[in-house]
Amino acid sequence: MLTIESLKVRYGGIVALHEVSIEVQRGETVLLVGSNGAGKSSLINAVIGLVPNVSGRIQFDGRDLAGMSCAARARLGIGYSPEGRRVFSSLSVTENVLSSTLGHPVAKVGENLAWIRKTFPLVVERARQPANQLSGGQQQIVALARAVSTMPKLLLLDEPFLGLAPIWIERISDAIRELQRRGTTILMTEQMARPALKLVDRAYVMRSGEIRRSGTVEEIRGVALAEEYL
Ligand code: ATP
Repeated sequence: MLTIESLKVRYGGIVALHEVSIEVQRGETVLLVGSNGAGKSSLINAVIGLVPNVSGRIQFDGRDLAGMSCAARARLGIGYSPEGRRVFSSLSVTENVLSSTLGHPVAKVGENLAWIRKTFPLVVERARQPANQLSGGQQQIVALARAVSTMPKLLLLDEPFLGLAPIWIERISDAIRELQRRGTTILMTEQMARPALKLVDRAYVMRSGEIRRSGTVEEIRGVALAEEYL
């Protein structure tokens, strides 16, 4: 579903990604694991079209994404939950969840919102509360609900566990499992290898803008856990 070939990302003189190639098959959950500065966010941002200085090829669902705007990529079916949650702090929970749905077919959004309300009860319980009054874990749930409000084919999750207490890591993991049961294809990044490896089929271990190892969870577990402490 997603094929990235020789992706290079540069910020001025800094090369954040050196010719990285990865792929994600339909229905899979794939992890990019690595410590601070490994290049995880740069890769995700290149897929959604947020990084200008990119070379290489990114194909989604058979389409080359080169030159396509962020909005056009979202319309193709790419959903995104940013690192550090980044909810719209003064908007209510409902407004946050609906904020990604503009321009999407109303009937489909309605059907999907029913699923979101059932799966994430917090979205109903705190519907009118400004998002900045929620705890970090609750905000992450809102960010997830917003990212899936358009029923994306591919969900990109950038460090969903960052800064969360263990109880919230468990709850977010349960939410990700619900999305998997629904058939969502997921590419997630994490520094915290231990909880992330429980959720995925395969992983790529990143360091200094390169893929150091890739394979099934069993194949890369040792290397991934070592990266966690770098
Ligand atoms: P983290 O978990 O800390 O976000 P990461 O694995 O997501 O790390 P990136 O954020 O992709 O890594 O950063 C990769 C490299 O690119 C780092 O050296 C970082 O300093 C650099 N970098 C990232 N964004 C920018 C930017 N906007 N301008 C300049 N350099 C950047």
